[in-house]
Amino acid sequence: MTFIRTTPSRPVDVTAVFPQLAPLARPATRLHPRPGAPTPHDSSIGGPLLWPADEPWPHCDAPHEGGGCLLAAVRVDQRVRARAAAHPDGTPGVSSRTPEEEAVLAQFDWDQERPDGPIPLLPVAQLYVRDVPVLRPPGQADLLQVLWCPFDHPDMYMPRTAVFWRSAAAVTDILTSPPESFDVEFEEYVPEPCVLAPEQVTEYPNPLELSKELREQLGDWGRWEAVDAAVDSSYAPFPESYYRSDLSVAPGWKAGGWPQWGYTDPAPRQCPACDTAMEPLLTIDTFEWDGSSHSWIPYEDQAAASSTGDRHRDMWRPTGVQIGSGYKQQLYVCPAAPEHPHIELMQ
Ligand SMILES: [Zn+2]
Ligand SMILES: [Zn+2]
Repeated sequence: MTFIRTTPSRPVDVTAVFPQLAPLARPATRLHPRPGAPTPHDSSIGGPLLWPADEPWPHCDAPHEGGGCLLAAVRVDQRVRARAAAHPDGTPGVSSRTPEEEAVLAQFDWDQERPDGPIPLLPVAQLYVRDVPVLRPPGQADLLQVLWCPFDHPDMYMPRTAVFWRSAAAVTDILTSPPESFDVEFEEYVPEPCVLAPEQVTEYPNPLELSKELREQLGDWGRWEAVDAAVDSSYAPFPESYYRSDLSVAPGWKAGGWPQWGYTDPAPRQCPACDTAMEPLLTIDTFEWDGSSHSWIPYEDQAAASSTGDRHRDMWRPTGVQIGSGYKQQLYVCPAAPEHPHIELMQ
């Protein structure tokens, strides 16, 4: 890892005010993706995977409609953006297409139909346990790879993911040119290649997952003031919002921790194979923060985050991924048996 990101300390030690929360603390790893040039040996979002040359690349067999956004054209745009980002001084021509890139675009027949057959999946996340210790891999595995089919599917308005665990040391010959889909549903389903700055944080449950009794206590501002005189009094009319936005669940891409809720109430997440309560594996987020979660902006990004322009966008929406109209895609795994099928929800 070549850079770090540091979440500011939470404004209040919430377990001092509500000791009942202490046993509910869970570690999460904020991933802090930023556009870059990851290799197969790095943890990444949208980067090349450490995939064995002799293992078939995963495909999606479901029927697909939509599409029409050519993946090779999206890749050209991504390369131009990456080049511009690598030359923030604005070297002339750096944000224009090269003749080779123009040639790639010129060779397309934009009216061509998608070839028949299954769709090759697209790399979404590659996480080494050395970087993301919150992961609980099965057996000797030390690498999580998440791919998705870059189309909406009849039962869900987001891409469908596939999860693979493997042992990095077992991969000797790496597949260097995996097959790519002809087209994608939206450009926002093609993650911008990003390097990561994983950071451990502690999370507590969304208020909707707490007992009625504890929620009532959270809503009593007198309790907050009695324990911590420095508590931000602007939240006095909305103590539960304060807990929710600043003290419970981190925004942005992350592994582990507690899920955020808001699009729906908490949904049951039982393993389809053994009925065990499933645990969050990965949160794919449209935004790294929103209007109510500014306190989670890393110190290193605060100056740029308050500006406008490209640097702001690179921090706020570093991967370019958009789920629904700005939601999150949550992946859950079975703690009893990680090989059991995972589930995914939009929030
Ligand atoms: Zn599909
Ligand atoms: Zn299970």
